[in-house]
Amino acid sequence: MIIVMKPESTQEQVKEVCGVLDSLGLGIHISEGALVTIIGVIGDKRVLNDVPLELMPGVDKLVPIMESFKLASKTFKPEASVVNVNGVQIGGKEIVIMAGPCAIESKEQLFEAADSIKQAGAQFLRGGAYKPRTSPYSFQGLEEEGLKYMAEARERTGLKIITEVISQKSIEIAEKYVDMFQIGARNMQNFYLLREVGKTKKPVLLKRGLSATVEEWLNAAEYIMSEGNYNVVLCERGIRTFETATRNTLDISAIPVIKSKTHLPVIVDPSHATGKWEYVAPLSRASIAAGADGLMIEVHPNPRCALSDGPQSLTPQNFHQLCSNISKIASLLDREYKVD
Ligand code: PEP
Ligand code: MN
Repeated sequence: MIIVMKPESTQEQVKEVCGVLDSLGLGIHISEGALVTIIGVIGDKRVLNDVPLELMPGVDKLVPIMESFKLASKTFKPEASVVNVNGVQIGGKEIVIMAGPCAIESKEQLFEAADSIKQAGAQFLRGGAYKPRTSPYSFQGLEEEGLKYMAEARERTGLKIITEVISQKSIEIAEKYVDMFQIGARNMQNFYLLREVGKTKKPVLLKRGLSATVEEWLNAAEYIMSEGNYNVVLCERGIRTFETATRNTLDISAIPVIKSKTHLPVIVDPSHATGKWEYVAPLSRASIAAGADGLMIEVHPNPRCALSDGPQSLTPQNFHQLCSNISKIASLLDREYKVD
């Protein structure tokens, strides 16, 4: 539920309403708009059954949130959220690019990728240490050793680092190293895992499930937020359709749909969406043009030798070219992306 205050309500009146909510053990989120202040109420609303909040001075009306997700909904918080990841803002004016290999294979491979993406202006190094591969016989990742290389790459370049977590144990280990957790498409509805990352303080990139509707995706975000971690960024990475020309179908319409339903930032991963490096650049450009707050792109120093997802990985050179174009599109849209 939200409480909409009257345009002429005073700060004192907002404080009084919050005092009542607080005394009943309810959580509060205040959105101060240009015209009205909205108070989002978190918790079991039954404690309000006998409290005539609508009669309190300054209160205009009480509005129930109709969506199945609450904290993630735009009704609850009308202004766009900016997620701060140790100094990098996702969802602000700046376009944020996360890039790097699908899997961390060696220190040399990771450092080469990190140095090149840094030059192209990326803010995050991505790299899988725990790889949930389709086949159990495929390379499964270097685990903690890989995370150590990631932390060294951060020291070397200043890039923030993000990795996928797949279990409670991997959360505990990765928490010591990374700036942001990634929940992969295959785990989007692993509600136990979502609650576990929700209990941490680290920002979470939540990828869309292979067959998830936008509503299911936002409910997955709600699971994380319901544990107190509001630092969630969504990532559209393509969905299963009848089309087989690409690995998945990039749902570009999900970008404006997401923007209309939630205050959370959204980025796009065109690498897993298409499965082919040739299509990554055009879909990256389209995603930024459609309003995405950033991109996640697989880059490998030598895609032909990659242990995982080589066919969809960009070379450092192609990545640099793409970033220059993103920079131009960003400035047309009054956004920003800096390439050296
Ligand atoms: C990945 O980012 O390496 C990955 C496995 O992506 P997804 O979960 O979207 O398939
Ligand atoms: Mn991959």
